[in-house]
Amino acid sequence: MVLTYYHLVSPSFDVLVLGAGAAGLLCAFEAGRRGRRVALLEHADRIGKKILISGGGRCNFTNLHTTPENFISANPHFAKSALARFTPDDFLALVNKHRIPYHEKTLGQLFCDHSASDITNLLEAECRAAHVQIFLNTRITAVQRTTEFVLHSNSAEFRAPVLIIATGGLSIPKIGATSFGYDLARQFGHQIVPTRPALVPLLFNRPDSRRYAELAGVSMEVIATADDNSFREKMLFTHRGLSGPAILQISSYWEKGLPIHLDLAPQRDATASLRASPHRDLAATRKVLQQFLPNRFAGRWLEFHTPPNYTNPSLAAFETQLHNWTLVPADTEGYEKAEVTAGGVDTRQLSSKSMASALVPGLFFIGEVVDVTGHLGGFNFQWAWASAAAAARSL
Ligand SMILES: Cc1cc2nc3c(=O)[nH]c(=O)nc-3n(C[C@H](O)[C@H](O)[C@H](O)COP(=O)(O)OP(=O)(O)OC[C@H]3O[C@@H](n4cnc5c(N)ncnc54)[C@H](O)[C@@H]3O)c2cc1C
Repeated sequence: MVLTYYHLVSPSFDVLVLGAGAAGLLCAFEAGRRGRRVALLEHADRIGKKILISGGGRCNFTNLHTTPENFISANPHFAKSALARFTPDDFLALVNKHRIPYHEKTLGQLFCDHSASDITNLLEAECRAAHVQIFLNTRITAVQRTTEFVLHSNSAEFRAPVLIIATGGLSIPKIGATSFGYDLARQFGHQIVPTRPALVPLLFNRPDSRRYAELAGVSMEVIATADDNSFREKMLFTHRGLSGPAILQISSYWEKGLPIHLDLAPQRDATASLRASPHRDLAATRKVLQQFLPNRFAGRWLEFHTPPNYTNPSLAAFETQLHNWTLVPADTEGYEKAEVTAGGVDTRQLSSKSMASALVPGLFFIGEVVDVTGHLGGFNFQWAWASAAAAARSL
């Protein structure tokens, strides 16, 4: 990978984009294609580090079934305009242009066949074609606004009338996540919707840990519910709690202290055959559970939920418990393990058409730093692309 890297005082630019991740890269080349002179500033030593680790290294770069309902925000209407004007097909056109092989995994989720680096190569090639100048290892020390934005960094001073913040969220600090975008937003008077780790595994409380932590590795299909939002997908036991797509999805809605609910037998009358049989005992009940639950989990569940007798009311209570296992997680695994950050720059002070600040002319916020958080399944990249395109097209 060859990147332009300038050390000295830079020429003047029309647009400064801060953060060479998904949103920053797309915004930079879209603006460049429109004839703007763009500098893309990144504090890491390479572009798109989060893209490279995404989707298990294969980057789930969009979701064909993207709708505004796949996003969480204090203002659920905010994302609609940008999502409608840059669709999954628009990104797919780029993927096809670069002949990147991909496949649909499940539920409209598109992944690279080979490697997420196909996507970073695409973005880098488009930046090069649009004459975007990329500055790596560039640490911004101060941002001022005079008649234009002036950015002081460890290597140079950058000036432009437009500043686009694409510095992402707080998840995975070890690959370069910082609070820079939120701090800068505050500096210019923007409100921040409190941030929290999202799409993140949940931790057992102590009693549940004693009961279930040794099931680590066991996985099963459940309907997981938090704050009235439900997802039917796989759940995975870990050494410290619960993970898997169902849990990651509800983690974005979960708040500390609140319960989560798990239906362990979705759409199933699990005890019907027992109720119809005269042979009702622990062995028969275990056999029934093992028809749809992993053996290790079925055994452990029965240790703590043995029907007191096998009368119909007792089996009905057992059935109810199976459909509503209620747990209060101790916490999440935090930003170290979270795929995204929920909350962020408050959308009430941004234009939904262009992502421009309503407070500071020329200032824009795009991507994950904004209070728009996608469900699991390629939606977060789709938001990064769509919000980036919205900003670039308004320049
Ligand atoms: C493990 C993992 C897997 C994921 N998999 C998927 C997936 O398959 N599909 C999906 O849709 N989403 C996925 N996501 C979420 C997705 O990666 C993010 O939502 C998306 O990258 C956000 O794009 P962004 O451009 O806003 O931020 P980022 O891609 O995080 O880019 C922000 C950039 O800004 C830079 N930066 C930060 N601070 C500064 C600073 N002070 N100065 C200069 N530069 C700075 C960072 O180094 C980074 O390059 C995954 C996330 C993780 C952590």
